[in-house]
Amino acid sequence: MKRLKRLLFILLMILLTGYLLPQHLSMPVKGATKESYDQKSFRAYPWGSSITHKGVDIFAPEGTDVLASTGGLVVFTGVLTKGGNALIILGPKWRFHYYAHLKEIKTKRFAFVKRNNVIGLVGTTGNAVGKPPHLHYSIKSMLPLPWKKDESIQGWKKMFYLNPVVYLNESCN
Ligand SMILES: [Zn+2]
Repeated sequence: MKRLKRLLFILLMILLTGYLLPQHLSMPVKGATKESYDQKSFRAYPWGSSITHKGVDIFAPEGTDVLASTGGLVVFTGVLTKGGNALIILGPKWRFHYYAHLKEIKTKRFAFVKRNNVIGLVGTTGNAVGKPPHLHYSIKSMLPLPWKKDESIQGWKKMFYLNPVVYLNESCN
């Protein structure tokens, strides 16, 4: 029993530490500005088979460096039907940062990356084939954010997604 309590305490501390880590996000595409993405990109509807757009599309010439917006642990790299060459970084506050449509992935699974490290190149893979090259970037919380819920379509799913545009705009200031 004592051991279990200690284990729970350690787990709680890990959770808390992760949550308290500061999150200073930087622009995930080299040289991108406020003109590189649409302010209304997040939750744009209708959005094909995804129904609503859960991130932001940052447009840049093919082959532009994709930079880690935050430090963290690469938990996934691979090829997805919609995302094409994609990767996921677990960053501060137990948030997943998803980078998709990459021409090339420049990091490895289970690598620790620092903010602004090159992790890939902008491309048109996945369902971005035939579209202007862009990075699809989204931020998903592991912990639900009940205040992000709304009653329209996919309301419950919205509890997990943050609007990256807010952070990108901040990074431009
Ligand atoms: Zn997108």
